[in-house]
Amino acid sequence: MGRYDVVVIGAGISGLLSALALSKEGKNVLVLEKENYIGGVCRSYEVDGYRVDTGPHAITRLESGPLRELMNRYFDIIPQFVPFGKYYVRTDSDIKQFPWNINAWLTFNLLPITDRLLLMRSLFDVLYMSSAGKDLSTIPLYEVIPANISTRTNRFLEWLCYFMVGASMKNTPISRFIDNKSHKPNSIPYMGRLYDLLITEGATDQGYPRGGLQSIVSSILASFPKNKVEIRTNEDVLKIQCDDERVEKVITKENSYDCSTAIYSGFASDLPDLIDGLPEEYTKNLVSIKKVNSLTIWLGLTKNIFKNYGSEMWIDSEPYAWVVPTSNYDHTLAPKGKQLAGFVFILPDEYNASTMKKKAFDAIVDVFPHIEKHIDMIHHQELIPEKASWGINSGFGDVRTPIKNLYCVGTDSEKRSAGVSRAAYSVLKCLDIMGSDLGSG
Ligand SMILES: Cc1cc2nc3c(=O)[nH]c(=O)nc-3n(C[C@H](O)[C@H](O)[C@H](O)COP(=O)(O)OP(=O)(O)OC[C@H]3O[C@@H](n4cnc5c(N)ncnc54)[C@H](O)[C@@H]3O)c2cc1C
Repeated sequence: MGRYDVVVIGAGISGLLSALALSKEGKNVLVLEKENYIGGVCRSYEVDGYRVDTGPHAITRLESGPLRELMNRYFDIIPQFVPFGKYYVRTDSDIKQFPWNINAWLTFNLLPITDRLLLMRSLFDVLYMSSAGKDLSTIPLYEVIPANISTRTNRFLEWLCYFMVGASMKNTPISRFIDNKSHKPNSIPYMGRLYDLLITEGATDQGYPRGGLQSIVSSILASFPKNKVEIRTNEDVLKIQCDDERVEKVITKENSYDCSTAIYSGFASDLPDLIDGLPEEYTKNLVSIKKVNSLTIWLGLTKNIFKNYGSEMWIDSEPYAWVVPTSNYDHTLAPKGKQLAGFVFILPDEYNASTMKKKAFDAIVDVFPHIEKHIDMIHHQELIPEKASWGINSGFGDVRTPIKNLYCVGTDSEKRSAGVSRAAYSVLKCLDIMGSDLGSG
């Protein structure tokens, strides 16, 4: 096998974005993917005439976030995004729009007024802590939440923690909720997010990719420069052979590849199995990474059950759910006259798959008792949304590794935002670091 400038391990969104950026900068890139498909947890496929995604997705920070930056720099074809619409909060008796700003919060009567006022006070406590220079990434949200709030309000907050961080309130750092979009080096920490809290109109810079999630991956593939990127599927990387703190070879079952640089986008927690002799401290951190599993139930429906344009947060269901009728964004995802909706449930650490599937399905029927007679297609997915949760007491990866010419990208390599945006942030960081390493080398 010839020598490649870069070998990218894994063809999920972070691996593909890295391959695109580096090939556009003139490198010869080889992408190795262990599965027989590409896209990782960012793809779509057909089930009985419906086009389902790997879990329903809202693509965030589309105005000026990391994906936008990468699209502007490197994409020849940019996917079309349709507005993601409103977020609705559903309890077992009512449904209301998510309160994005303080004004809406004060009139958000799904939660008791006393709780809303108490939580306002918590917000000002956080402001004070931030201005006093406290490190909010080490303080759990739980610590600033009054002990006497109602069960409903507690569930509302737990929902946000599980879906935004993958951890409970006791393990969710306050900083996650005031993660500043602009992140300018000289900006006052968290002020951007707090400003958003006071005046924002809602999730206006979020979108759904027309044609399904796959259209992001398809745009990347269509933007690869000719003869610069080779993708090989069914190539499970079993070893990254290093010598003198440098990658020498990337080894799969049948092949071995030489490269100047390697980018790893699989689970960082798997690295100790792939590389011999990693430093003990580094390994200890990687093996303490926690990830959360999710279950998505896709339902194809013969009747338009979800009429609101947007998604629903189910805070009273057991387990919690996020419901996205994706065919409302693009009618072609379902056969004519039918509706496609994805219901995501966060799974506990230990679970029995068939019990959870039943429990989750029962939760749907609880909310819509007549839904069963409208089901035309049912499809289950058990997927890990992010390769590392952002909880306080768990490990997290980094773009840099102890191996000089090996970098990591993906949702376990950069603590900013979530999902596709987080993966894109990690790619931008990786490009920056590689650039400065090259400059100093
Ligand atoms: C139910 C659900 C809902 C979600 N909702 C949203 C949302 O609303 N908004 C959002 O932005 N994101 C969302 N996400 C998350 C988002 O899709 C992912 O975080 C993102 O796609 C992860 O990209 P990645 O490149 O880091 O990882 P992955 O997609 O996991 O890619 C890693 C790739 O590496 C391959 N690989 C691993 N090890 C090896 C090896 N040894 N050799 C070769 N190949 C290897 C894997 O097969 C995989 O293809 C959701 C995900 C799920 C499951």
